[in-house]
Amino acid sequence: MNIAEQTRFKIMLLAHKEELQELEQAQLDQTTVGMDATQGQQMAQGTQSRRTQELARIDAALQRIANGSYGRCVQCNEDIDMRRLETNPSITHCSQCTK
Ligand SMILES: [Zn+2]
Repeated sequence: MNIAEQTRFKIMLLAHKEELQELEQAQLDQTTVGMDATQGQQMAQGTQSRRTQELARIDAALQRIANGSYGRCVQCNEDIDMRRLETNPSITHCSQCTK
């Protein structure tokens, strides 16, 4: 993968990260109307942990861009198909290694 491609994915990842952080902020500002406290809390926790995982995957992908291993499968070290990366830039495995 060349530098221009890496930069393009980096921009996509950073944009997605910003989006997630904005959602997080929006949720913090929002009061849970029409739900009892427990329900609201459980929903918030579920969303929160999915978002935290997603942010962790994005950070890991940015880390791989920084150390030059981005775009390769973490398991077999083969290049990941560019179309798969475009669909999900934080993907870590090639189609062979994805169960
Ligand atoms: Zn693989």
